[in-house]
Amino acid sequence: MSDADIIAIGSGHNGLVAAAYLAVAGKRVLVLERNAWLGGGCVTRELTLPGFHHDQHSMSHIFIQGNPLLLNDELGLHAKYGLKYIRPDVPMMSVWEDGTTLPLHRDPAKSAEAIRRFSAKDADTFLELSRQAAQWLPMIQASLYSPPMPLGASTAMMDQSAEGREIWRTMQVSTFDLMEELFEHEKVKAHFGRVAGENLVSPDEKATGIGAYVFLGFLEKFGFGVPVGGSGSLTNALVACIEDHGGKVIAGADVREVTSDGSRATGVVLDDGTRHSAKDGIIGAIHPHLLPELVPSLPPVVAKNAKRTHITPAACITVHAALDEPLRFKAGDISAVMYELMPANYDDLRRAFDELRYGNFAPVPLVGVGQLTQHDPSRCPEGKAIFHAWDYVPYQHPQGLDWDEAKSGYADQIMARMSNYIENVPDAVLAYHCDSPVDMERTSPSFRRGDLHGIATTTYQSGSHRPTPELGQYRVPGIERLYLVGPFQHPGGGVFGAGRATAMVMAEDLGIEFDQIRVP
Ligand SMILES: Cc1cc2nc3c(=O)[nH]c(=O)nc-3n(C[C@H](O)[C@H](O)[C@H](O)COP(=O)(O)OP(=O)(O)OC[C@H]3O[C@@H](n4cnc5c(N)ncnc54)[C@H](O)[C@@H]3O)c2cc1C
Repeated sequence: MSDADIIAIGSGHNGLVAAAYLAVAGKRVLVLERNAWLGGGCVTRELTLPGFHHDQHSMSHIFIQGNPLLLNDELGLHAKYGLKYIRPDVPMMSVWEDGTTLPLHRDPAKSAEAIRRFSAKDADTFLELSRQAAQWLPMIQASLYSPPMPLGASTAMMDQSAEGREIWRTMQVSTFDLMEELFEHEKVKAHFGRVAGENLVSPDEKATGIGAYVFLGFLEKFGFGVPVGGSGSLTNALVACIEDHGGKVIAGADVREVTSDGSRATGVVLDDGTRHSAKDGIIGAIHPHLLPELVPSLPPVVAKNAKRTHITPAACITVHAALDEPLRFKAGDISAVMYELMPANYDDLRRAFDELRYGNFAPVPLVGVGQLTQHDPSRCPEGKAIFHAWDYVPYQHPQGLDWDEAKSGYADQIMARMSNYIENVPDAVLAYHCDSPVDMERTSPSFRRGDLHGIATTTYQSGSHRPTPELGQYRVPGIERLYLVGPFQHPGGGVFGAGRATAMVMAEDLGIEFDQIRVP
């Protein structure tokens, strides 16, 4: 008898989502995680001082809010397993050193009023952008949580109507081009340009224009979900669901190989030589660059194309701090989930990504900040606070230094930059923890070379071609019953709950009616 029906390699939220659907369908599930903790990019840890709970990676769960997994509570994560979200009124705010701010509210009328302070024309254009985003949202949403439509079919479909052609054009233009068409005020343009930056690309990158509509549509309809207790609450709810349905989740189990009988995946071998067999299938959070190593029987062309997938030059570096008191912004008493500390000039924002492309630091750090204790005080002792700051750097340190040695100096630079906008940084910092791009990769192989989306989000690595045309439907050619999950699969990086699409494909192969998999 096999050790399990289904083995999941990795306890990231996507693997857990796929495993949970299969467990609810009655399969015996075994999840194996290499880290000593669970959750991959959805993890909350005491990284600094006791009692201060930091989201080491993802902090706001944006795109999973439109997933039927949560919308219809298909696995009972809300009703039965304790998952709760706070959805603050202001998901995102740009803050400039001169004290001006530009909040994006869930209510478009309030955002338009904020934009009106810069330009009346831009405020009216924004309302049109918001209306269009809301109109396109259902179609976009329908494409995110199930297997992607083949590239040719989706292009042909869009080409059949004027609206489809407009969407296609918006998909192809750069955010910069789009903002030039739409807005007149530099700060309004820069504000939306920064949104592209959160996807690790320059606003000048072609094929990023649609991002502004997707981001705005989600932000207004669903808000930015802040999980009560931290990002790890999603992991905890999924683990509870799996265990409640007889599954097992084991930490400290590093899978070094997927075994096969020549055509079909049969099990896994751990680093310590332990073997586990799987009767029905294996879910692998396996980065395309590592796939040939973990799956020796991979057909050569599949291996070659997986190895050549491109990673962004904008690697992520983060600082998590325990604070003696909440942040005091020079702009006043402001509240948002994400604060973008904006360069004075839009061009500096654009140039940041050019420099990263050449392997240099950005001329002005692009620091984003979250202070989630503002929305969820349960994460730290009373009266105290935490912050999570992020910036983009080259994976290879420009001066050839080892990031393990250089990271504290860079963390100091991030905090120096923050001090231009925030009165009590670094004075209020009790302790901090910095993750360089190398640490990022150590905490999860998905974040290879510090790419928090696994591989770059470019058109040739999107939709059914993410990560490659062969692997774009979550199956692995030549090795039946091996299925992929990860930010490097459709729909991409971020907390999407995309493991649902992998579960759909598996259900099809296993003769299970996916729509019947529900926790009552
Ligand atoms: C700094 C940072 C900030 C982010 N902020 C946000 C945010 O605010 N909002 C958002 O939506 N997204 C954010 N993201 C992105 C988001 O965290 C990821 O896209 C998402 O968590 C990916 O989930 P996943 O389950 O696909 O992969 P992962 O979370 O990477 O999980 C994969 C898991 O598999 C394990 N694993 C891999 N190989 C093996 C093996 N061989 N054996 C055993 N276990 C293995 C890994 O250890 C890991 O735990 C952020 C990412 C980073 C790095």
